[in-house]
Amino acid sequence: MKIKFAGAARTVTGSCYILEVGGHHFAIDCGMYQGNDEIEKRNWDIDIYDPKRIEFIIITHAHIDHSGLLPRMVQKGFRGPIYTTPPTKELLKIMLLDSAHIQEMEALWKTKRRLRHGDEKTEPLYTQADAEKTYPLIKTVTYNEVFEPFPDLKVNFLDAGHILGASHIELWVNDQGRTSKLVFSGDVGRPDQLLVSNPSVISEADFLFVESTYGDRDHKDDKESLDELAEAIAYSYQRGEKVIIPSFAVQRTQEMIYSLHLLSLEGRLPPDLPVIVDSPLAIRATEVFRSCQEYLDEETHIKIKNGEDPLKLPQMRFTLSTQESMAINLTAGPAVVISASGMANAGRIKHHLRHNLWRSGASIVFVGFQAQGTTGRKIIDGAEKVRIFNEDIAVKAKVFTINGFSAHAGQTQLLDWIGHFKNQAMQIFLIHGEYEAQQIMAGLIEKRFGFKVHIPDYLEESVLVPGEAAQYVEFPEKASPRIDWNYLLSDAELKMTALRGRMTQIESKPWVEQTDLRDRLIEVNRHLLEIISQT
Ligand SMILES: [Zn+2]
Ligand SMILES: [Zn+2]
Repeated sequence: MKIKFAGAARTVTGSCYILEVGGHHFAIDCGMYQGNDEIEKRNWDIDIYDPKRIEFIIITHAHIDHSGLLPRMVQKGFRGPIYTTPPTKELLKIMLLDSAHIQEMEALWKTKRRLRHGDEKTEPLYTQADAEKTYPLIKTVTYNEVFEPFPDLKVNFLDAGHILGASHIELWVNDQGRTSKLVFSGDVGRPDQLLVSNPSVISEADFLFVESTYGDRDHKDDKESLDELAEAIAYSYQRGEKVIIPSFAVQRTQEMIYSLHLLSLEGRLPPDLPVIVDSPLAIRATEVFRSCQEYLDEETHIKIKNGEDPLKLPQMRFTLSTQESMAINLTAGPAVVISASGMANAGRIKHHLRHNLWRSGASIVFVGFQAQGTTGRKIIDGAEKVRIFNEDIAVKAKVFTINGFSAHAGQTQLLDWIGHFKNQAMQIFLIHGEYEAQQIMAGLIEKRFGFKVHIPDYLEESVLVPGEAAQYVEFPEKASPRIDWNYLLSDAELKMTALRGRMTQIESKPWVEQTDLRDRLIEVNRHLLEIISQT
C-alpha cells in the first residue's frame, strides 16, 4: 500500500492524499490550494493528481481546501464516484458553483488586464459547467454506514464535529492478505462548538493521518470570544463606523449569526444596529443548515424545539445582488457586515476592506484561520498597508483576532483526541498544518504518548506496512524549488549599474518625461524597501 501526499503537506490548504492498494488508485479529499501565487500554481499541476487513473474520491467535508479541485478533476477526465455525507453533498452543490464563479471572474479580470498589456487571455481553472458535471458523481453515505468501494476496502464516516456533515474517515484495507486500518482525521472540530456535535472518539488505527492546524496553540474560551465580539461592536457603534467580519460562508457565518443572537438575548447587540450577511453563498449555506437539521447538535435541537431560531435576528438582512452589496458602502453609519472569503483574499469582502480598512473607527474582526500569504494573514501580522485591487490600503481600523470561534480543535483538544488511540505501534502522519506548528505538535505527541510521528512534505510518497517503519521517498526539488537569490540580486545590481551609465541621456530628456522615469524608480525603491523591511 502506498500513499502520495498531493496536498496539505507542511501547509494548510490543498488537502489531497492519493492511495494505491493492490492496483486500485483513489484519493481522500481533493482540495484547492489557497495562498500566494506560488502556492496557488499547484492547483494547475493536474499531472500530480492523474485524474483518469483515480477510481473514486472520498471527501471529508465541503470546505474548498478539501473539495475545491473536484471540478478540475472532472474537467480532466475523472469519472468515478465521489463518496461523502448527505449534508456535504448539499454544501458542495453550492460551494463548487461559487468557487467556479470566482475562478471565472478572476480569469476574466486577469484577461482584461493581460489584453491591455498585449498578452494572451487566461483560462479559468474550471467553469460552472465543470461544477455542474461534478454533482451527478456524488454518492452519499451517512455516518456509521460502512461501505465497500472495492472488495479489499471498507470505509466508514464518523462525525468530525468540524462543520455540518464533516467526517473522520476510517479505512480497513486488505493488502496482500494483511488487514490494516487507516484513519484520516479530516479537520477535527473544536469541542463545544455551536451547531455541530463534538468530534467522534476513535481508538484503533495502524496509521493515523491527523490535521495539525493549531498544533502550536490553544484557543481562548467561548465566553472570552463572545466578549471580544461585543467589544468590537461597541467600539465601532460608538464611532458610527462598521464592523467587518471576513467569514467562511459555511459554518462560521452561521456560528456568527448564532453568536450575535446570543449577544442580542444578553442586550449586548444594539437593536438599531443593522446586521448584513453579504454573501450569496452564506445565504444558501444557511438554508442547508435548515434542511439538514438532523445533523445539528443536541443543544440546537433543544433550542429549536423551544421555539427559538438561533439563525435569525430581527435586524438582520441578506444581500444577494451585487448592487445591494455595493450599496452597503454607500450608506454611512454603523453596521455589522459578515462577508466571504474568510481569509480576505477573494470575494465581496475585498470591497468592504477597501472601503473600511483605512477608517480609524471601523473594526475588522477575524474569526478564522488565516493562511500564509493571504490578505487576512498580512493584516493580523500587523501590516501597515495591504494591497487590494492593485491599490495600497492603509490599515487604520481596529483589528480583532478572535480565534475562539475556530472550527478546529486547539492544541490541547487535538492532543486529547489523539490520546484515545491505543495501539502503541501506530504511526502518525501530521498533515494540514504549517511546518513550525507541526514540529511543536510532533514533539508533544512523542513526549506524551510515545507514538512515532512523521511530517510528510509536498509530493512525498510512503510505503505503508503495518508494524514496520514507513519508508519515505521525498522530492524536495519539486516540493520547494530553490530560489536563486544570488542570481536575482546580481541581476538587479547589473540593471542599477546600466541605469547609472544612462544618466547623461536621462538628464537630457524633457523635464516631464524625466518625472515619469523618476516616479517609476521611486516605485522600484518602494518595492525594495518593502522586501528589506519584511526580512
Ligand atoms: Zn475544514
Ligand atoms: Zn481544512
